Amino acid sequence: TATVGVLALQGSYNEHLAVLRRLGVKGVQVRKPEHLNDLGALIIPGGESTTMAKLAEYHNLFPALRDFVRTGKPVWGTCAGLIFLANKAVGQKSGGQELIGGLDCTVHRNFFGSQLESFETQISVPELAAKEGGPPCFRAVFIRAPAILEAGPDVEILASYSFPIGKPTIEEAALQEGKVIVAVRQANLLGTAFHPELTADVRWHRFFLKMGKWTEEEASTSALGPDVQ
Ligand code: GLN
Repeated sequence: TATVGVLALQGSYNEHLAVLRRLGVKGVQVRKPEHLNDLGALIIPGGESTTMAKLAEYHNLFPALRDFVRTGKPVWGTCAGLIFLANKAVGQKSGGQELIGGLDCTVHRNFFGSQLESFETQISVPELAAKEGGPPCFRAVFIRAPAILEAGPDVEILASYSFPIGKPTIEEAALQEGKVIVAVRQANLLGTAFHPELTADVRWHRFFLKMGKWTEEEASTSALGPDVQ
């Protein structure tokens, strides 16, 4: 099996590496552009996306990360990693932050509010259960979690979360729906607003590893396309 890289600048990368170990998959830490060479797939963990962006910039990782997305190899962003992969992030306290992009989504960085509003809930993910078996629901851990407010036509919605109407920290726009998107797939890209690496359920990791069926010629259909950026 191919080696899976985990961006190891900050955040929950050790937890992802531990799950890969449990699955018998070789995982390596990615801290420099050259660490991306020869990887079959990449995971971008949760953490704090502005800090992660600053560190990625410092290590000159953005061009190499964008190139990696363009190869069509699977890339999975969890939480802050989802923000990193999005084409657009809103809800910043000040200014913008650099993103890898590729995932045709608008993500609200702190949709669910602060640390105090972190929570766990059961989320139904029919696609995951169909592919990996097990219970129809997944225990989703949301920590200062983002949410996807808008997704483009090529984005497949894997899971949504219905929240209690009237929750004060939630943006007006999304309130009308009472529902936000929390897991998506677009070609070689997977994004989850929650943290599967913090649960004992390894189905998301298995599901992601199977996305590695993407071949070179399919890479031309990868989210960034061959010559964007
Ligand atoms: N809201 C955080 C951010 O902006 C992400 C939180 C997380 O990854 N647990 O980066």
